[in-house]
Amino acid sequence: MASVSAELKGKYVLVINAGSSSFKTQILACENEKPILAVLAERIGSDNGKLIFKINPDTDKEEKHAFDVHYPTHGDGIRDMMKRIVDMGILPNFDSIVASGHRVLLGGPYYAECKVDATVKQVIRDYIPLGPLHNPANLACIEVIEEILPGVPAVAVFDTGFHTTMPAYAYTYGISKEFSEKYHLRRYGFHGISHKYVSKTAAKYLGKETFTGICCHLGNGCSITAIKDGKCVDTTMGLTPLEGLLMGTRCGDIDASLPLFLMEQEGLTPTQMSDVLNKQSGLKALTGSNDMRDVEAMIAKGDENAILANNIFNYRVIKYIGAYLSVLGYDIDGILFTGGIGENAPVTRAPICQAFANLGLEIDDELNKVRSGEPREITKKGSKIKALVVPTNEELEIMQTTLKILGY
Ligand code: AMP
Repeated sequence: MASVSAELKGKYVLVINAGSSSFKTQILACENEKPILAVLAERIGSDNGKLIFKINPDTDKEEKHAFDVHYPTHGDGIRDMMKRIVDMGILPNFDSIVASGHRVLLGGPYYAECKVDATVKQVIRDYIPLGPLHNPANLACIEVIEEILPGVPAVAVFDTGFHTTMPAYAYTYGISKEFSEKYHLRRYGFHGISHKYVSKTAAKYLGKETFTGICCHLGNGCSITAIKDGKCVDTTMGLTPLEGLLMGTRCGDIDASLPLFLMEQEGLTPTQMSDVLNKQSGLKALTGSNDMRDVEAMIAKGDENAILANNIFNYRVIKYIGAYLSVLGYDIDGILFTGGIGENAPVTRAPICQAFANLGLEIDDELNKVRSGEPREITKKGSKIKALVVPTNEELEIMQTTLKILGY
Protein backbone atom coordinates (compact mmCIF):
# COMPACT_ATOMS: atom_id res chain seq x y z
CA MET A 1 0.00 0.00 0.00
CA ALA A 2 1.26 3.48 -0.86
CA SER A 3 2.16 5.82 1.98
CA VAL A 4 0.38 9.08 1.29
CA SER A 5 1.41 12.65 1.77
CA ALA A 6 -0.37 14.80 4.36
CA GLU A 7 -2.32 16.59 1.61
CA LEU A 8 -4.00 13.30 0.63
CA LYS A 9 -5.17 12.38 4.15
CA GLY A 10 -8.98 12.10 4.16
CA LYS A 11 -9.07 12.58 0.37
CA TYR A 12 -10.59 10.39 -2.35
CA VAL A 13 -10.23 9.60 -6.04
CA LEU A 14 -13.33 9.04 -8.14
CA VAL A 15 -12.75 6.33 -10.75
CA ILE A 16 -15.10 5.86 -13.69
CA ASN A 17 -14.96 2.87 -16.00
CA ALA A 18 -17.65 3.24 -18.67
CA GLY A 19 -18.70 0.53 -21.11
CA SER A 20 -21.00 0.90 -24.09
CA SER A 21 -24.24 0.62 -22.06
CA SER A 22 -22.96 0.61 -18.49
CA PHE A 23 -20.53 2.23 -16.13
CA LYS A 24 -18.67 1.14 -13.01
CA THR A 25 -17.55 3.71 -10.48
CA GLN A 26 -15.48 3.54 -7.33
CA ILE A 27 -14.59 6.16 -4.78
CA LEU A 28 -11.25 5.11 -3.29
CA ALA A 29 -9.64 6.52 -0.18
CA CYS A 30 -6.11 7.80 -0.84
CA GLU A 31 -4.95 6.67 2.58
CA ASN A 32 -5.51 2.93 2.17
CA GLU A 33 -6.42 2.64 -1.54
CA LYS A 34 -9.68 0.88 -0.58
CA PRO A 35 -13.08 1.78 -2.06
CA ILE A 36 -15.69 3.34 0.20
CA LEU A 37 -18.22 2.94 -2.60
CA ALA A 38 -18.56 0.76 -5.70
CA VAL A 39 -21.33 1.52 -8.19
CA LEU A 40 -22.60 -0.39 -11.18
CA ALA A 41 -25.07 1.18 -13.62
CA GLU A 42 -26.41 -1.19 -16.26
CA ARG A 43 -28.63 -1.03 -19.35
CA ILE A 44 -28.13 2.67 -20.01
CA GLY A 45 -30.42 3.73 -22.84
CA SER A 46 -33.10 1.16 -21.99
CA ASP A 47 -36.21 1.42 -19.82
CA ASN A 48 -35.19 -1.26 -17.33
CA GLY A 49 -31.89 0.13 -16.10
CA LYS A 50 -30.35 -0.88 -12.75
CA LEU A 51 -28.15 1.09 -10.42
CA ILE A 52 -26.35 -0.81 -7.68
CA PHE A 53 -24.50 0.89 -4.82
CA LYS A 54 -22.17 -1.11 -2.59
CA ILE A 55 -21.07 0.97 0.37
CA ASN A 56 -17.84 -0.34 1.98
CA PRO A 57 -17.66 -3.12 -0.62
CA ASP A 58 -16.04 -6.46 0.25
CA THR A 59 -15.90 -5.68 3.96
CA ASP A 60 -18.07 -6.93 6.83
CA LYS A 61 -19.74 -3.49 6.75
CA GLU A 62 -20.84 -3.85 3.12
CA GLU A 63 -24.28 -2.36 2.40
CA LYS A 64 -25.96 -3.01 -0.92
CA HIS A 65 -28.67 -0.78 -2.43
CA ALA A 66 -30.30 -1.51 -5.80
CA PHE A 67 -32.43 1.00 -7.72
CA ASP A 68 -34.55 0.71 -10.84
CA VAL A 69 -33.52 3.58 -13.09
CA HIS A 70 -33.98 4.91 -16.59
CA TYR A 71 -30.94 6.70 -17.94
CA PRO A 72 -31.22 7.84 -21.57
CA THR A 73 -27.47 8.60 -21.61
CA HIS A 74 -24.29 7.95 -19.60
CA GLY A 75 -24.33 11.62 -18.56
CA ASP A 76 -27.79 11.22 -17.00
CA GLY A 77 -26.58 8.22 -15.07
CA ILE A 78 -23.45 9.96 -13.77
CA ARG A 79 -25.48 13.02 -12.65
CA ASP A 80 -28.00 10.85 -10.80
CA MET A 81 -25.28 8.74 -9.18
CA MET A 82 -23.40 11.80 -7.94
CA LYS A 83 -26.60 13.28 -6.49
CA ARG A 84 -27.37 10.02 -4.66
CA ILE A 85 -23.85 9.93 -3.19
CA VAL A 86 -24.60 13.15 -1.32
CA ASP A 87 -28.31 12.44 -0.68
CA MET A 88 -27.42 9.08 0.90
CA GLY A 89 -24.76 10.72 3.05
CA ILE A 90 -21.91 8.66 1.58
CA LEU A 91 -20.00 11.95 1.26
CA PRO A 92 -21.34 15.27 2.67
CA ASN A 93 -20.14 17.04 -0.49
CA PHE A 94 -17.39 16.54 -3.09
CA ASP A 95 -14.74 18.73 -1.44
CA SER A 96 -12.69 15.67 -0.50
CA ILE A 97 -12.41 14.36 -4.09
CA VAL A 98 -8.95 15.36 -5.34
CA ALA A 99 -9.17 13.86 -8.81
CA SER A 100 -11.18 11.76 -11.19
CA GLY A 101 -9.63 8.92 -13.19
CA HIS A 102 -11.33 7.61 -16.32
CA ARG A 103 -10.80 4.43 -18.27
CA VAL A 104 -10.91 5.35 -21.95
CA LEU A 105 -11.04 2.61 -24.56
CA LEU A 106 -8.89 3.89 -27.40
CA GLY A 107 -6.21 6.55 -27.36
CA GLY A 108 -4.35 5.73 -30.55
CA PRO A 109 -0.69 4.78 -30.81
CA TYR A 110 0.83 7.34 -28.43
CA TYR A 111 -1.50 8.16 -25.57
CA ALA A 112 -1.25 5.89 -22.52
CA GLU A 113 -2.28 7.98 -19.50
CA CYS A 114 -2.52 11.74 -19.22
CA LYS A 115 -4.24 14.67 -17.58
CA VAL A 116 -7.36 15.56 -19.53
CA ASP A 117 -7.18 18.79 -21.54
CA ALA A 118 -8.59 19.95 -24.87
CA THR A 119 -5.97 17.95 -26.83
CA VAL A 120 -6.69 14.72 -24.98
CA LYS A 121 -10.43 15.19 -25.49
CA GLN A 122 -9.77 15.67 -29.20
CA VAL A 123 -7.76 12.42 -29.29
CA ILE A 124 -10.72 10.60 -27.69
CA ARG A 125 -13.01 12.18 -30.31
CA ASP A 126 -10.61 11.34 -33.18
CA TYR A 127 -10.77 7.64 -32.29
CA ILE A 128 -14.58 7.46 -32.10
CA PRO A 129 -14.74 5.78 -35.55
CA LEU A 130 -12.63 2.88 -34.19
CA GLY A 131 -14.35 2.78 -30.78
CA PRO A 132 -17.86 3.92 -31.66
CA LEU A 133 -19.58 2.53 -28.57
CA HIS A 134 -16.98 3.26 -25.90
CA ASN A 135 -15.09 6.47 -26.73
CA PRO A 136 -18.25 8.67 -26.82
CA ALA A 137 -19.40 7.19 -23.48
CA ASN A 138 -15.94 7.76 -21.97
CA LEU A 139 -15.87 11.37 -23.16
CA ALA A 140 -19.42 12.01 -21.91
CA CYS A 141 -18.45 10.78 -18.42
CA ILE A 142 -15.35 13.01 -18.38
CA GLU A 143 -17.35 16.08 -19.43
CA VAL A 144 -20.18 15.55 -16.94
CA ILE A 145 -17.72 15.03 -14.09
CA GLU A 146 -15.91 18.24 -15.13
CA GLU A 147 -19.25 20.03 -14.80
CA ILE A 148 -20.04 18.50 -11.38
CA LEU A 149 -16.48 18.82 -10.02
CA PRO A 150 -15.22 22.11 -11.49
CA GLY A 151 -11.49 22.57 -10.98
CA VAL A 152 -10.90 18.94 -10.00
CA PRO A 153 -8.31 17.46 -12.39
CA ALA A 154 -9.29 14.47 -14.53
CA VAL A 155 -6.92 11.82 -15.85
CA ALA A 156 -7.60 9.56 -18.84
CA VAL A 157 -6.12 6.08 -18.62
CA PHE A 158 -6.35 4.42 -22.01
CA ASP A 159 -7.04 0.70 -22.29
CA THR A 160 -4.72 0.67 -25.29
CA GLY A 161 -1.97 2.50 -23.36
CA PHE A 162 -0.02 -0.50 -22.09
CA HIS A 163 0.28 -1.79 -25.65
CA THR A 164 1.82 1.34 -27.16
CA THR A 165 5.26 -0.27 -26.67
CA MET A 166 4.60 -3.04 -29.21
CA PRO A 167 7.15 -3.11 -32.04
CA ALA A 168 5.94 -2.19 -35.55
CA TYR A 169 6.26 -5.79 -36.76
CA ALA A 170 3.75 -6.85 -34.09
CA TYR A 171 1.19 -4.11 -34.67
CA THR A 172 1.28 -3.59 -38.45
CA TYR A 173 -1.33 -5.31 -40.60
CA GLY A 174 -0.33 -6.49 -44.09
CA ILE A 175 -2.53 -4.00 -45.91
CA SER A 176 -1.73 -0.90 -47.97
CA LYS A 177 0.04 1.94 -46.20
CA GLU A 178 -2.44 4.33 -47.77
CA PHE A 179 -5.37 2.72 -45.95
CA SER A 180 -3.45 2.20 -42.70
CA GLU A 181 -2.40 5.83 -42.52
CA LYS A 182 -5.70 7.29 -43.67
CA TYR A 183 -7.78 5.34 -41.15
CA HIS A 184 -5.20 4.65 -38.38
CA LEU A 185 -5.48 0.90 -39.01
CA ARG A 186 -3.13 -1.16 -36.83
CA ARG A 187 -3.25 -3.50 -33.88
CA TYR A 188 -3.85 -1.49 -30.69
CA GLY A 189 -4.61 -4.19 -28.10
CA PHE A 190 -7.02 -3.80 -25.17
CA HIS A 191 -7.37 -4.84 -21.50
CA GLY A 192 -4.16 -2.83 -21.08
CA ILE A 193 -5.08 -1.48 -17.64
CA SER A 194 -5.62 -5.03 -16.41
CA HIS A 195 -2.47 -6.45 -18.03
CA LYS A 196 -0.43 -3.61 -16.53
CA TYR A 197 -1.86 -4.02 -13.02
CA VAL A 198 -1.55 -7.81 -13.04
CA SER A 199 2.02 -7.86 -14.40
CA LYS A 200 3.12 -5.17 -11.90
CA THR A 201 1.51 -7.13 -9.06
CA ALA A 202 3.19 -10.34 -10.24
CA ALA A 203 6.59 -8.62 -10.33
CA LYS A 204 6.09 -7.47 -6.75
CA TYR A 205 4.92 -10.94 -5.67
CA LEU A 206 7.96 -12.57 -7.30
CA GLY A 207 10.35 -9.99 -5.86
CA LYS A 208 11.38 -8.66 -9.29
CA GLU A 209 11.78 -5.09 -10.53
CA THR A 210 9.66 -5.83 -13.61
CA PHE A 211 7.78 -8.81 -15.00
CA THR A 212 8.75 -10.80 -18.08
CA GLY A 213 6.19 -13.38 -19.13
CA ILE A 214 2.71 -14.04 -20.38
CA CYS A 215 -0.47 -12.55 -18.96
CA CYS A 216 -3.79 -14.26 -19.75
CA HIS A 217 -6.85 -12.08 -19.07
CA LEU A 218 -9.72 -14.56 -19.44
CA GLY A 219 -13.14 -13.07 -18.72
CA ASN A 220 -16.12 -12.31 -20.88
CA GLY A 221 -13.52 -10.62 -23.11
CA CYS A 222 -10.23 -12.49 -23.36
CA SER A 223 -6.71 -11.46 -24.34
CA ILE A 224 -3.14 -12.59 -23.79
CA THR A 225 -0.14 -10.26 -23.67
CA ALA A 226 3.57 -11.02 -24.00
CA ILE A 227 5.49 -8.77 -21.62
CA LYS A 228 9.25 -8.16 -21.56
CA ASP A 229 10.79 -6.18 -18.70
CA GLY A 230 7.35 -4.80 -17.79
CA LYS A 231 6.55 -3.67 -21.34
CA CYS A 232 4.07 -5.15 -23.79
CA VAL A 233 5.70 -6.68 -26.88
CA ASP A 234 2.62 -8.36 -28.34
CA THR A 235 -1.04 -8.93 -27.52
CA THR A 236 -3.86 -10.95 -29.05
CA MET A 237 -6.48 -8.21 -29.51
CA GLY A 238 -6.02 -5.93 -32.49
CA LEU A 239 -7.64 -2.92 -34.12
CA THR A 240 -10.68 -3.70 -31.99
CA PRO A 241 -11.25 -6.11 -29.09
CA LEU A 242 -12.45 -8.77 -31.57
CA GLU A 243 -9.15 -10.37 -32.58
CA GLY A 244 -7.47 -13.32 -30.89
CA LEU A 245 -9.01 -15.71 -28.39
CA LEU A 246 -12.50 -17.20 -28.38
CA MET A 247 -14.59 -15.05 -25.99
CA GLY A 248 -18.03 -14.96 -24.37
CA THR A 249 -19.76 -13.42 -27.40
CA ARG A 250 -16.82 -12.56 -29.71
CA CYS A 251 -15.41 -14.96 -32.28
CA GLY A 252 -11.73 -13.99 -31.98
CA ASP A 253 -9.42 -14.91 -34.88
CA ILE A 254 -11.30 -15.56 -38.07
CA ASP A 255 -10.43 -15.52 -41.79
CA ALA A 256 -11.25 -11.97 -42.93
CA SER A 257 -13.04 -13.48 -45.94
CA LEU A 258 -15.67 -15.14 -43.76
CA PRO A 259 -17.62 -11.98 -42.84
CA LEU A 260 -17.36 -10.76 -46.45
CA PHE A 261 -18.83 -14.06 -47.65
CA LEU A 262 -21.63 -13.94 -45.07
CA MET A 263 -22.46 -10.31 -45.83
CA GLU A 264 -22.87 -11.21 -49.49
CA GLN A 265 -24.86 -14.39 -48.89
CA GLU A 266 -27.13 -13.01 -46.17
CA GLY A 267 -27.32 -9.39 -47.35
CA LEU A 268 -25.98 -8.14 -44.00
CA THR A 269 -24.93 -4.53 -43.48
CA PRO A 270 -21.54 -3.80 -41.80
CA THR A 271 -23.39 -2.98 -38.56
CA GLN A 272 -25.31 -6.25 -38.65
CA MET A 273 -22.14 -8.20 -39.42
CA SER A 274 -20.33 -6.48 -36.57
CA ASP A 275 -23.19 -7.43 -34.25
CA VAL A 276 -22.88 -11.09 -35.30
CA LEU A 277 -19.10 -11.17 -34.74
CA ASN A 278 -19.08 -9.17 -31.49
CA LYS A 279 -22.33 -10.11 -29.79
CA GLN A 280 -23.61 -13.38 -31.30
CA SER A 281 -20.43 -15.44 -31.60
CA GLY A 282 -17.90 -17.11 -29.29
CA LEU A 283 -19.12 -19.38 -26.48
CA LYS A 284 -22.64 -18.01 -26.93
CA ALA A 285 -22.84 -19.10 -30.56
CA LEU A 286 -21.32 -22.51 -29.89
CA THR A 287 -23.21 -23.40 -26.68
CA GLY A 288 -26.10 -20.96 -26.22
CA SER A 289 -24.42 -19.28 -23.21
CA ASN A 290 -21.60 -16.76 -22.98
CA ASP A 291 -20.92 -17.72 -19.36
CA MET A 292 -18.15 -20.25 -18.72
CA ARG A 293 -20.00 -21.49 -15.60
CA ASP A 294 -22.90 -22.59 -17.82
CA VAL A 295 -20.46 -24.19 -20.25
CA GLU A 296 -18.87 -26.11 -17.36
CA ALA A 297 -22.33 -27.29 -16.21
CA MET A 298 -23.16 -28.43 -19.76
CA ILE A 299 -19.84 -30.32 -19.99
CA ALA A 300 -20.66 -32.12 -16.74
CA LYS A 301 -23.81 -33.41 -18.47
CA GLY A 302 -21.80 -34.55 -21.49
CA ASP A 303 -23.00 -31.82 -23.87
CA GLU A 304 -20.90 -32.19 -27.02
CA ASN A 305 -21.27 -28.57 -28.15
CA ALA A 306 -20.00 -27.38 -24.77
CA ILE A 307 -17.08 -29.83 -24.87
CA LEU A 308 -16.09 -28.57 -28.33
CA ALA A 309 -16.46 -24.91 -27.32
CA ASN A 310 -14.29 -25.48 -24.26
CA ASN A 311 -11.69 -27.30 -26.35
CA ILE A 312 -11.60 -24.40 -28.83
CA PHE A 313 -11.30 -21.91 -25.95
CA ASN A 314 -8.41 -23.79 -24.31
CA TYR A 315 -6.69 -24.59 -27.62
CA ARG A 316 -6.48 -20.93 -28.60
CA VAL A 317 -5.10 -19.96 -25.20
CA ILE A 318 -2.48 -22.74 -25.45
CA LYS A 319 -1.61 -21.72 -29.02
CA TYR A 320 -0.98 -18.09 -28.06
CA ILE A 321 0.96 -18.97 -24.90
CA GLY A 322 3.17 -21.18 -27.12
CA ALA A 323 3.60 -18.35 -29.61
CA TYR A 324 4.48 -15.84 -26.88
CA LEU A 325 6.90 -18.25 -25.24
CA SER A 326 8.85 -18.19 -28.49
CA VAL A 327 8.47 -14.41 -28.78
CA LEU A 328 10.05 -14.16 -25.30
CA GLY A 329 12.80 -16.69 -26.04
CA TYR A 330 11.40 -19.25 -23.54
CA ASP A 331 12.87 -17.15 -20.73
CA ILE A 332 9.99 -16.03 -18.52
CA ASP A 333 9.16 -15.29 -14.89
CA GLY A 334 5.77 -16.95 -15.26
CA ILE A 335 2.36 -17.32 -16.86
CA LEU A 336 -0.37 -15.24 -15.20
CA PHE A 337 -4.11 -15.94 -15.09
CA THR A 338 -6.64 -13.20 -14.37
CA GLY A 339 -10.23 -12.14 -15.23
CA GLY A 340 -13.45 -13.93 -14.23
CA ILE A 341 -12.41 -17.24 -15.81
CA GLY A 342 -8.66 -16.93 -15.19
CA GLU A 343 -9.22 -16.21 -11.49
CA ASN A 344 -12.08 -18.60 -10.78
CA ALA A 345 -11.94 -21.61 -13.09
CA PRO A 346 -9.35 -24.22 -12.04
CA VAL A 347 -10.80 -26.59 -14.65
CA THR A 348 -9.81 -24.17 -17.38
CA ARG A 349 -6.35 -23.40 -15.95
CA ALA A 350 -5.43 -27.08 -15.51
CA PRO A 351 -5.48 -28.26 -19.15
CA ILE A 352 -3.84 -25.03 -20.30
CA CYS A 353 -0.97 -25.52 -17.85
CA GLN A 354 -0.72 -29.26 -18.62
CA ALA A 355 -0.04 -28.41 -22.27
CA PHE A 356 3.35 -27.04 -21.15
CA ALA A 357 4.34 -30.00 -18.94
CA ASN A 358 7.09 -30.97 -21.40
CA LEU A 359 8.67 -27.55 -20.92
CA GLY A 360 8.74 -28.10 -17.16
CA LEU A 361 5.50 -26.45 -16.05
CA GLU A 362 4.28 -28.60 -13.14
CA ILE A 363 0.80 -27.62 -12.01
CA ASP A 364 -0.06 -28.36 -8.37
CA ASP A 365 -3.65 -29.67 -8.39
CA GLU A 366 -4.28 -28.65 -4.78
CA LEU A 367 -2.91 -25.12 -5.18
CA ASN A 368 -4.89 -24.78 -8.40
CA LYS A 369 -8.11 -25.39 -6.44
CA VAL A 370 -7.41 -22.71 -3.80
CA ARG A 371 -9.86 -19.80 -3.85
CA SER A 372 -8.47 -16.46 -2.74
CA GLY A 373 -8.45 -12.80 -3.68
CA GLU A 374 -4.65 -12.73 -3.34
CA PRO A 375 -1.93 -13.36 -5.93
CA ARG A 376 -0.79 -16.97 -5.65
CA GLU A 377 1.27 -19.66 -7.37
CA ILE A 378 -0.50 -22.74 -8.72
CA THR A 379 2.63 -24.65 -9.76
CA LYS A 380 4.75 -27.02 -7.68
CA LYS A 381 7.84 -25.75 -5.88
CA GLY A 382 10.73 -26.04 -8.32
CA SER A 383 8.48 -25.96 -11.41
CA LYS A 384 10.65 -24.68 -14.28
CA ILE A 385 7.85 -22.43 -15.49
CA LYS A 386 5.68 -20.84 -12.81
CA ALA A 387 1.94 -20.26 -13.24
CA LEU A 388 0.18 -17.73 -11.01
CA VAL A 389 -3.33 -16.49 -10.42
CA VAL A 390 -3.31 -12.71 -9.97
CA PRO A 391 -6.72 -11.06 -9.39
CA THR A 392 -7.07 -7.95 -11.49
CA ASN A 393 -8.15 -4.56 -10.14
CA GLU A 394 -8.57 -2.01 -12.91
CA GLU A 395 -10.07 0.61 -10.60
CA LEU A 396 -7.06 0.52 -8.28
CA GLU A 397 -4.70 0.75 -11.26
CA ILE A 398 -6.62 3.79 -12.56
CA MET A 399 -6.51 5.41 -9.12
CA GLN A 400 -2.76 4.86 -8.72
CA THR A 401 -2.08 6.11 -12.25
CA THR A 402 -4.27 9.17 -11.69
CA LEU A 403 -2.36 10.19 -8.58
CA LYS A 404 0.99 9.49 -10.29
CA ILE A 405 0.10 11.62 -13.32
CA LEU A 406 -0.99 14.47 -11.07
CA GLY A 407 2.34 14.33 -9.22
CA TYR A 408 1.13 13.09 -5.84
P1 AMP B 1 -15.18 -10.86 -16.32
O1 AMP B 1 -15.53 -10.35 -17.69
O2 AMP B 1 -13.72 -10.78 -16.00
O3 AMP B 1 -16.06 -10.31 -15.24
O4 AMP B 1 -15.49 -12.42 -16.35
C1 AMP B 1 -16.79 -12.87 -16.54
C2 AMP B 1 -16.77 -14.34 -16.86
O5 AMP B 1 -16.03 -15.08 -15.87
C3 AMP B 1 -18.16 -14.92 -16.80
O6 AMP B 1 -18.81 -14.75 -18.00
C4 AMP B 1 -17.90 -16.35 -16.49
O7 AMP B 1 -17.81 -17.02 -17.73
C5 AMP B 1 -16.54 -16.40 -15.83
N1 AMP B 1 -16.58 -16.87 -14.44
C6 AMP B 1 -16.83 -16.16 -13.31
N2 AMP B 1 -16.78 -16.97 -12.22
C7 AMP B 1 -16.50 -18.21 -12.67
C8 AMP B 1 -16.31 -19.48 -12.05
N3 AMP B 1 -16.42 -19.63 -10.74
N4 AMP B 1 -16.02 -20.54 -12.85
C9 AMP B 1 -15.93 -20.39 -14.19
N5 AMP B 1 -16.07 -19.22 -14.82
C10 AMP B 1 -16.36 -18.14 -14.09
